[in-house]
Amino acid sequence: MKIIKDPVQLKQILVGERKLGRTVGFVPTMGALHEGHLSLVRASKCENDITVVSIFVNPTQFAPGEDLKKYPRVFKRDCGMLGKCGVDYLFYPSVRAMYPEGFSKPLRIRNAKWPRLARSLCGKFRPGHFRGVVTVVAKLLDIVFPDKLYLGSKDYQQAAVLQQMVKDLRLNVKVRLMPTVREKSGLAMSSRNRYLSIVDRKRSEKISRVLLELGRELEKNKEPVSKLKSRALSELKKHVDRVQYLEIVNARTLAPVRARCAEMGVLTACFVGKTRLIDNVIIRSR
Ligand code: AMP
Repeated sequence: MKIIKDPVQLKQILVGERKLGRTVGFVPTMGALHEGHLSLVRASKCENDITVVSIFVNPTQFAPGEDLKKYPRVFKRDCGMLGKCGVDYLFYPSVRAMYPEGFSKPLRIRNAKWPRLARSLCGKFRPGHFRGVVTVVAKLLDIVFPDKLYLGSKDYQQAAVLQQMVKDLRLNVKVRLMPTVREKSGLAMSSRNRYLSIVDRKRSEKISRVLLELGRELEKNKEPVSKLKSRALSELKKHVDRVQYLEIVNARTLAPVRARCAEMGVLTACFVGKTRLIDNVIIRSR
């Protein structure tokens, strides 16, 4: 595995790879890797000749007061994991390399649809977050120019926003949305889980249970959506310290649903102690 810090160098290498007819799969990450990330890497390895992973803790997607400074950075460990998976190139740029002096604020794209998707759910509680995500991923795609971009369903809204960005900019990349990888307990794997104490981890395990139960009820129980939701919300509140949102949405538009539709998403963000966790389940009627 080659570790490359310079965007220009990586761009040149990948131009060379493509000239040889090789396809490129790309997995952007912020490091502190776990099986969720590795599942994306493995999918890319299966479907492409070359796999590129980036590790970059992107400052523009953190609001003041969020966990940018304490975000876990375990580069050596990450390298070992990616090397074992057979990753070809690890892109590990500095903040300066990604945001050089004179970098202007992200341009507004006229008629872009992604800002609408970015306003609700996490967007309400993390203003500017998705603008930062879109900015960094657009920059990374410009450097890597992959055939396929691998994203996890764990960050469902992020994936929806990025899929829309790819459409808005007519980028020639196929987005592959991969399933959420969970601990045996059901807890969605996340780099932030390492902030959790043993007690808080136990409490966090209830989040996926509440979502799965609500998903099952939406499929089977005929009660109104609003009633099922408020019951699930009360249950969730018993286990976590603060619920930012628990929403039942149309899985395509992310608009809240009042009546059942073919593809629904149940999404939540909540705090356990000081740790903010997100999770979701997607329900597709057969
Ligand atoms: P992050 O390092 O948190 O920015 O995540 C990088 C990529 O890994 C994103 O596309 C995430 O959605 C994906 N990812 C994170 N956790 C999981 C998980 N538990 N299962 C599947 N994909 C995940």
